[in-house]
Amino acid sequence: SLTLGIVGLPNVGKSTLFNALTRNDVLAANYPFATIEPNVGVVELPDARLDRLAEIFGSERILPAVVSFVDIAGIVKGASVGEGMGNQFLANIREADAICQVVRVFADDDVVHVDGRVDPFADIEVIETELILADMQTLEKALPRLEKDARKNKDLSALLDAAKKAQEILDGGKTLFSAKDSFDLSSVRELHLLTAKPFLYVFNADEGVLTDDARKEELRKAVAPADAVFLDAKVESELLELDEEDAQELLDSIGQDEPGLRQLARAGFHTLGLQTYLTAGPKEARAWTIRQGDTAPKAAGVIHTDFEKGFIKAEIVSYDDLDAAGTMNDAKAAGKVRMEGKDYVMADGDVVEFRFNV
Ligand code: GDP
Repeated sequence: SLTLGIVGLPNVGKSTLFNALTRNDVLAANYPFATIEPNVGVVELPDARLDRLAEIFGSERILPAVVSFVDIAGIVKGASVGEGMGNQFLANIREADAICQVVRVFADDDVVHVDGRVDPFADIEVIETELILADMQTLEKALPRLEKDARKNKDLSALLDAAKKAQEILDGGKTLFSAKDSFDLSSVRELHLLTAKPFLYVFNADEGVLTDDARKEELRKAVAPADAVFLDAKVESELLELDEEDAQELLDSIGQDEPGLRQLARAGFHTLGLQTYLTAGPKEARAWTIRQGDTAPKAAGVIHTDFEKGFIKAEIVSYDDLDAAGTMNDAKAAGKVRMEGKDYVMADGDVVEFRFNV
């Protein structure tokens, strides 16, 4: 499954957040036979639609989708030149599908900042500079070979042009992802550049920041087009120890409607370019994870490879239509249930039953 790699400067709250991610027991509860690596934290994607489906179909249990985060050892200045943990760090990031950067915006005199001050913009720059430098090195190595190969093989000239454009963006001190509206990230996919991965920013904040909409907007703008999540990592770990009522009280006290881990799950899912579709029956109401743009047979393959191979068609009703109709029969009577073929592109909230040959 796809993962977000957690990075950030020392002492910004990565471990605190990661512990909250690993202690929520999502996998243990829902997927007892899954093996989880010690450095992987999993969080449920909240989806109230599953509760309603379970009600409509009398499902025994609910299985939400999950998002996985990998803990990547702390970055240090100089990582790109292979100092200390540098090389291993970059190798670990390369394996992640997206980069989740934790940034400190909480004030606490008892927690030392590596550079002696809380400055989220400077911190972001430190991390991004290392990633940008690493990509520049990759391109410096790749370009001479690409130039040579492109002379013989015209098919490579598009990749060469894209690589040169990427170099320009990096030279300007920007990550490729931040330029995604003017630069086609998929054009350099085979070069495995770190800053071409999607970014997500987690601002580890205190109540002062969490309730300051102008400050949040400023930070959000600074990292756009990446998603931004604001949470208090310390509170998130405390929430897991509390019953629902006390948890809500604690959230209220810092001006939050819901746990930050929920927001993180949604943003992580979005950052990875994922989407869900839903199935429901007497046994379970379940969300299945697919990529945005996946077709019906591809979606069927997530349940079982035989479903993809033997795909005939998919019986689909949009969640909203089913919710309004109240039962599957009423949805059918209202003409809301469609048969879709192999070219159908799945939409968010599709409630599906696949027909297939075995
Ligand atoms: P890491 O080095 O990035 O993994 O940071 P840690 O998670 O170890 O956190 C460093 C210190 O900051 C620890 O003493 C944490 O208890 C504290 N800390 C983490 N998150 C918060 C937060 O949101 N607020 C405050 N006040 N302290 C925090």
